[in-house]
Amino acid sequence: MFDALKLKNTLLDDYSKLKHLGGWQAVADLYGVGKTMVWRIANTDYIPKDQTIRKKLGLPVSAQVFPVMGEILNGSAAPASRICPHCGNFFIPNAGKRRKCYVCVPYRDRKLDLL
Ligand SMILES: [Zn+2]
Repeated sequence: MFDALKLKNTLLDDYSKLKHLGGWQAVADLYGVGKTMVWRIANTDYIPKDQTIRKKLGLPVSAQVFPVMGEILNGSAAPASRICPHCGNFFIPNAGKRRKCYVCVPYRDRKLDLL
């Protein structure tokens, strides 16, 4: 999240420097990604999901997570995380409809001892 915000500001800085030397295409060439991609990251809240593009832009391709129940084995793959609108913590949803974290809305009514 914070890496994405830093990238957004970096891209806007790059654009202001390269505005007269090709604009967004010049910025895109700098990172080796598409023009639309850099514009979209800089001007919207979009964060690229593709690992190849994330590497090119310097975004992390792995993250440290902590289990709230059970075990998460080292190197486990997970879909994208979300931000809980209630408390602001990051979490990985167990289902597509889940919008709040496991602390705010416990999984199957189990109370969690954390945070
Ligand atoms: Zn929450």
